[in-house]
Amino acid sequence: MTHGDEQHDVVIVGGGPIGLCLGVLLAQRGTDVVVLEARSERTNHSRAIGIHPPGLRVLAAAGVADALAAQGVAISRGAARSRGRPIADLAFDPPDLAVPQWRTEGTLEARLAELAPTALRRGVRAAGFAGVGDDAATVRATGSAGEPRLFRGRWVVAADGARSPLRAALGIPVQERGYPDAYVMGDFADGTADGSAAVLYLEPEGIIESFPLPGGVRRWVVHTDTLVTVPTPDALAALIEQRTGAAVDPASNTMLSSFTVRERLAASMRRHRVVLVGDAAHEVSPIGGQGMTLGWLDAEAFAPLLADSGHDDWPELWDEVERERRRAAAEAAHHAALNMALGRSLPPKAMAARNGIIRGLYGLPPLRSWTARRFTMQT
Ligand SMILES: Cc1cc2nc3c(=O)[nH]c(=O)nc-3n(C[C@H](O)[C@H](O)[C@H](O)COP(=O)(O)OP(=O)(O)OC[C@H]3O[C@@H](n4cnc5c(N)ncnc54)[C@H](O)[C@@H]3O)c2cc1C
Repeated sequence: MTHGDEQHDVVIVGGGPIGLCLGVLLAQRGTDVVVLEARSERTNHSRAIGIHPPGLRVLAAAGVADALAAQGVAISRGAARSRGRPIADLAFDPPDLAVPQWRTEGTLEARLAELAPTALRRGVRAAGFAGVGDDAATVRATGSAGEPRLFRGRWVVAADGARSPLRAALGIPVQERGYPDAYVMGDFADGTADGSAAVLYLEPEGIIESFPLPGGVRRWVVHTDTLVTVPTPDALAALIEQRTGAAVDPASNTMLSSFTVRERLAASMRRHRVVLVGDAAHEVSPIGGQGMTLGWLDAEAFAPLLADSGHDDWPELWDEVERERRRAAAEAAHHAALNMALGRSLPPKAMAARNGIIRGLYGLPPLRSWTARRFTMQT
């Protein structure tokens, strides 16, 4: 190590929601942690909004649940409709929380700054490893002025997102699967009477999902058969109105994007002294809104092991946690795949028959309650 290089207990690469949350959980335990984040400023590009109860449990342990609840909308009901008729109505108890990802990240960042003011290093990009051994790993990075830097940790955590440069540098293979589904997503002023309910419109042309957001805003996610490369507020509002009858004011649009869907599962979450968490370990479809909660549960599971050097040479314990987290990721991917299948276009008669079956089944309270728990990641 030379002047300017650093040594810490845990070096986390990636200051997204998972890296920041893990940083907080470790700092709370008194661990010397540093979080390297390539971006010099947080982006307000909108991705996740839904936080399921298990994610809220982790956020409560990180000391930010109340601050986030104050910035979000509690979703305690989910409704499914088709052609204007109700199909199912689910109660979410405890409720989900809807809050834009950038606000969640901002709140976690503030909490980390409270606990460890210099832990987050913005503008520092990890390029790979200078060494990965059985008792430490060293990250090769460039600082905000382009200067070379080394960060050595008893553990290094890759929380660097779905493309994970660190996972690639370790040569960990990834099982990747594409889906035929595409979506357009937009936030508009909420002109519906649905209040804090999430609504799924199961229509023959494809599903439309609608979720409340703070500030009288609603997010609409619309299934399309092919990717809409240049979405516009007018075209999205027209699609929503045509399929659901809901009037949406294009002039009130505040966010617009379109995306296709992929699933990636890393073959392993640990190599020597490097651990993968969040999207770096498993990217699941956004449909179902589970990716972030899944990553926070990784952070919750690995934090006690990373914090205590007494666990370092106890491979069975690490293997057990890894097995459980990979099982949870596979289950979330499976659940997301079912959600996407439910949202594909179908000829009107087939759609009516399928929706009739769903309506019948959801008349049964135990099934309703099981589904509500499954949608909110509680099974
Ligand atoms: C449209 C959409 C909607 C979604 N909706 C939901 C939802 O409602 N609920 C939900 O739970 N999930 C949702 N997700 C998934 C959720 O956004 C991800 O699971 C979550 O962002 C993963 O967090 P992460 O910290 O693992 O990775 P990321 O959020 O990708 O963060 C990784 C961070 O690492 C940094 N980084 C990358 N490379 C380097 C490097 N070399 N050096 C330093 N830093 C680096 C990046 O700048 C970034 O800040 C959605 C995703 C999308 C695309």
